[in-house]
Amino acid sequence: MTAEHFHADVAIVGYGPTGVAAANFLGSRGVKVVAFEREKDIYQRARAVTVNDWTLRCFQAVGLDQALLKDMDPHTQYRWKTYAGKELMRVAVEPSTLGQPAAMAIYQPVMEQTLRDGAARFADHVEVRYGKSVTGVVQDAEGATVALGDERVRVRYVLACDGGSSATREQLGIKLLGDTIDTRWVVIDAKIKRWWPERHILKFWSDNRRPVVDIALGLGNHRWEFPLEPHESEDQFATKELLWALLNSMGVTAEDVEIHQHAFYRHHVRAAERWRDGRVFLLGDAGHLMPPLGGPGYAIGYPRCLQPQLEAPSGDRRTSSRRGR
Ligand SMILES: Cc1cc2nc3c(=O)[nH]c(=O)nc-3n(C[C@H](O)[C@H](O)[C@H](O)COP(=O)(O)OP(=O)(O)OC[C@H]3O[C@@H](n4cnc5c(N)ncnc54)[C@H](O)[C@@H]3O)c2cc1C
Repeated sequence: MTAEHFHADVAIVGYGPTGVAAANFLGSRGVKVVAFEREKDIYQRARAVTVNDWTLRCFQAVGLDQALLKDMDPHTQYRWKTYAGKELMRVAVEPSTLGQPAAMAIYQPVMEQTLRDGAARFADHVEVRYGKSVTGVVQDAEGATVALGDERVRVRYVLACDGGSSATREQLGIKLLGDTIDTRWVVIDAKIKRWWPERHILKFWSDNRRPVVDIALGLGNHRWEFPLEPHESEDQFATKELLWALLNSMGVTAEDVEIHQHAFYRHHVRAAERWRDGRVFLLGDAGHLMPPLGGPGYAIGYPRCLQPQLEAPSGDRRTSSRRGR
């Protein structure tokens, strides 16, 4: 009997933060990968704001921690203040025991670019196809077939890294259990024009009506996250002029920052009822969603748990001796 030919050992569906992390981990171990991303470019919206020592430790394992750290700034303290200026609490970030900074401010689109450049080191066995939307995944005893419209790509395993609305998860009939909180948040990202005292200290403006997250991002960017009140609509904050009313209420003016984007979110606290179905694995937001206030949605997408779950591909593995290190 002739052995079946597979285009790759692993197909990655979605090349966001989780997909590109998986490509680096698998690429560094010589696994043959093909990744599909429906967008042509990196999604420019900065969603994640911080990563921690565990994240950096993961990327240290694939030689990318120093390149990533170049575009990050350390978090040293967190504080809670009332609108009237009373400081309720201040907490110092404890040093890490992992040989990495404990908490870092990031700028997500740039971090993703560094991770993409990292995966490009393995271009001989990690192929990335942009502008390609996966339309279905079918599996059998020997492998899985990824459909892209009329095209079919045969692989041994599939990693669904296609985000919170994962079509792969839905196609497998895997439920996303948990809650979505009704409150809508408007997230405003701005470029800094001038520094202000303690800008780098993450602040939780503690107010019963409108608690605000106020956080420095990497590379001279800043983020505010405001919950909308039940009677407020997204239309009320649709333009920069309307957003300025929110920033002005925090004492921030056009002399301090330039708004460059905003978005509305609801917070999800959800997990898929299972993270594996045969040859298909759900990773990142496809498998679990947590509110940004809890922080590490992005960070826990990194598939450090992945390696032991995949059985060794027999055919095309390049560096079998490195497996299990
Ligand atoms: C306001 C906010 C703040 C946050 N702050 C933090 C934080 O501080 N720290 C943190 O760790 N996390 C944070 N997060 C969470 C973090 O942004 C997400 O957990 C992270 O982006 C998930 O990455 P992902 O790759 O799993 O999914 P996504 O980022 O959603 O990427 C999925 C990718 O798959 C592609 N795709 C989808 N369907 C297909 C298809 N059919 N075919 C091909 N490609 C497809 C998409 O185009 C996309 O590129 C925050 C989120 C929000 C909204």
